[in-house]
Amino acid sequence: MQADSLENYPDKPLAPADSVILIIDDNPKSIKALSLLVRDFGEVVFATSGSTGIAMATKTKPDLILLDVEMPGMNGYEVCRQLKADTSTRSSNIVIVTSHKSVEHEVAALEAGAADFITKPLNAPLVRARVKTQLLVKKQADELHKLAEQDGLTGIYNRRYFDELFVQEWRRHQRQRSPLGLALVDVDFFKAYNDEYGHQEGDECLRAVAHSLRDAMRRPGEQVARYGGEEFVIILPYTDQHELHKIGPWLCEHIRNLERPHAKSQVSECVTISVGLASTIPSVQVAPAQLLGLADKALYQAKANGRNHSVVADKPLD
Ligand SMILES: [Mg+2]
Repeated sequence: MQADSLENYPDKPLAPADSVILIIDDNPKSIKALSLLVRDFGEVVFATSGSTGIAMATKTKPDLILLDVEMPGMNGYEVCRQLKADTSTRSSNIVIVTSHKSVEHEVAALEAGAADFITKPLNAPLVRARVKTQLLVKKQADELHKLAEQDGLTGIYNRRYFDELFVQEWRRHQRQRSPLGLALVDVDFFKAYNDEYGHQEGDECLRAVAHSLRDAMRRPGEQVARYGGEEFVIILPYTDQHELHKIGPWLCEHIRNLERPHAKSQVSECVTISVGLASTIPSVQVAPAQLLGLADKALYQAKANGRNHSVVADKPLD
């Protein structure tokens, strides 16, 4: 590429400027040339070898990686394969940059998991067009991914995502031999609420409860999801039974403080919740569903005992 074509190139951003682009190339001159071409698309970071590139990708979670093929040590195809095999770097889109212009090389790039292919010498408009396209594709994929995890009504996590997260947390706590807590939340007399105020208000109520529960979270890793209907579930990392006795009443109070009128409630003038909580140190002998079962039984008890309060399961899992 000629230097003057670089300098005269417009700096007008054409794609979301909040992207991170990682350039992996053993030649600093190539890094500079590519960087000048794409810097207005986002933050540009770089690495000069395959191994430092992989480390950089793990650290910066780039949206796009421009990856040179011809590098000493690990070549670009191998770097690409490793990045695509690792769940923490898999979602970055990779564009292979090479001086080899043949169908075989293009196929090799795609087979290694690359999204696209750029040949040297660099053609400025082509590089920018390809980079822009890949950044837009990445943005759309991110949005889809977020939608797949979200409950459509409340905007918090959905059941599907909870199931995934719960198993992950279960394994993590099992490895660390730490207690994992769970809370199941049910809105009291919700059917009566819907009958009295209509479904639109009912939806508003669920949104308010969902967001309030989410706001009540105080520690990292605590996650609220809609479990179904008027039920919510909360994952409480590193939380033992003793702590659950404080968290249950705190959640109930948080929802009472919304002071959302509920004329048909038999226990209060406002919307309230019942909460069932359970905790265990996960082990191979126990299935995650058993902890859910315990929390569910506790929730049943909380409802049977008059609602608007919480019950902690006291029976340990074995
Ligand atoms: Mg090279």
